[in-house]
Amino acid sequence: MHQRRRIGIIGGGIAGLAAAVRLRIAGFDVLVFEAAPTAGGKLGAMQLGPFRFDTGPSLFTRPDLIDELFELAGENPRDHFSYQRLDPVCHYFYADGKCFHAPAEPAALAATMEKELGEPAANILAMQNRGSYLYRITAPVFLESSLHTLLTYIRPSGLRGIANLPFIGTMRSMNKENIGRFATAHARQFYNRFATYNGSDPYRAPATLNVIPHLESAMGAWYPEGGMRCIPMAVYELALRLGVRFRFNAKVERILLDAGKKKVRGLLLEGGEEVPTDIVLSNADVFPTYKKMLPDLKAPARVEQVDSSSSALIFYWGIRKSFSQLGVHNIFFSSDYEQEFRDIWNEQQAPEDPTIYINITSKCDPADAPEGMENWFVMVNVPANRGQDWDAIRRQLRETVIRRMSRELGTDIAAWIAEEEFLDPVRIEARTGSYRGALYGSSSNRMLAAFFRQANFSSKVKGLYFAGGSVHPGGGIPLCLLGARITASLIQKKYQP
Ligand SMILES: Cc1cc2nc3c(=O)[nH]c(=O)nc-3n(C[C@H](O)[C@H](O)[C@H](O)COP(=O)(O)OP(=O)(O)OC[C@H]3O[C@@H](n4cnc5c(N)ncnc54)[C@H](O)[C@@H]3O)c2cc1C
Repeated sequence: MHQRRRIGIIGGGIAGLAAAVRLRIAGFDVLVFEAAPTAGGKLGAMQLGPFRFDTGPSLFTRPDLIDELFELAGENPRDHFSYQRLDPVCHYFYADGKCFHAPAEPAALAATMEKELGEPAANILAMQNRGSYLYRITAPVFLESSLHTLLTYIRPSGLRGIANLPFIGTMRSMNKENIGRFATAHARQFYNRFATYNGSDPYRAPATLNVIPHLESAMGAWYPEGGMRCIPMAVYELALRLGVRFRFNAKVERILLDAGKKKVRGLLLEGGEEVPTDIVLSNADVFPTYKKMLPDLKAPARVEQVDSSSSALIFYWGIRKSFSQLGVHNIFFSSDYEQEFRDIWNEQQAPEDPTIYINITSKCDPADAPEGMENWFVMVNVPANRGQDWDAIRRQLRETVIRRMSRELGTDIAAWIAEEEFLDPVRIEARTGSYRGALYGSSSNRMLAAFFRQANFSSKVKGLYFAGGSVHPGGGIPLCLLGARITASLIQKKYQP
């Protein structure tokens, strides 16, 4: 019977695409409505003169989750999508002049950090072991299952997860744990930074997030052939081959409910067209899903009270010069990390002395910039949009970044900028519907944050589901892909005979 069920997916972001593939393979009739002219959501790209840029994510982990989609469809992923492991993963530069290139392998990372920073290798290896333990305990419950179904908790992995709650760092901050683990401030700053991978603050987020370095170091950081944009494009083309239907420039205005508001019955598109569906899966941010598309329904408290993740200000610079001291991923740390996060989270302002991240894809894909030049994606973490003066912030940050980079690289960087664009929280919200321009939905700044994220389904409205960065298990490409898997499997369980 499920074969005739019609699913309307709102949004063709990475989670919407992955869910579409899974549900189509399961036999559903899948229609994706995307407000933008193309698929991919935050995984966008742009050309500025001779320079190509990925506009959103730059770091790719867990490529196996993309491969899984092709394998599920009976295709060889390598026929459609390839990637290479990055080694070193990232070049780190500290405010006091220390620097190191982080090797991909944990043992090599430990040896390098001991040599360059004076941090005993044993401490780094112990942290890697801790990350691996955290992953074993938390992944089956917090990343791979719905947190809102009983089944999760009565399975052995669920029981193990719950029994281990006191031991996975839920009640102390990442920074607090890292103070105890590392001898040097440099190693602490390196490990604290991983909180920003889901838009959180290491001085508040639970130490459970120390699982993130494990994802990068033990499971690898990768670069997709052709750039990050190829990730959603490969999944989009797979979806097309499977028979998923797409409507672009098709903004959903309302999710239509039956008279009792207990069950979905379709979608209303901008322009007035009504599309009947049995199931609706919203890949749009959950806040506007409730506030704009379901205005007559009371939003759950966890949606109303969302603690948005941080956002970012990004400069895209075509640089008429190349710098041998830089790699694909580069971090220039601030001198006072705690103050930087106080500025972002307490003051809700851009940091005065920010950590600067620079991604240069032309380092591994020379086609992205002319010979002897580089495409710089320069990113600074900022708070989500709450009406700050973003034009003034942008002008200030541009000056700060140019001053720091000119000092670090011994040349006036402003003089080498040939092409320029920017992205800020307001533009992120306008282009992808992400509430307040947050990069990762809600932050993980409170203890047991996972339990405060929106579930993958509505407990009030039959046939209403969610997948994407603003719902369980959270933001970032791997988590969005895991979320799509959870949601697709909930739908299959419910609607397959
Ligand atoms: C600048 C930046 C840097 C990032 N860096 C990284 C990184 O390095 N690594 C990483 O893993 N993650 C990173 N992220 C986070 C990552 O991009 C997101 O978590 C992920 O892409 C979100 O995917 P999603 O499926 O939730 O959908 P989104 O990408 O948010 O897409 C949602 C889609 O829904 C559509 N939509 C919204 N409302 C409607 C409507 N009413 N009708 C129809 N369509 C609608 C939108 O147009 C959009 O296409 C970054 C994000 C940004 C912005």
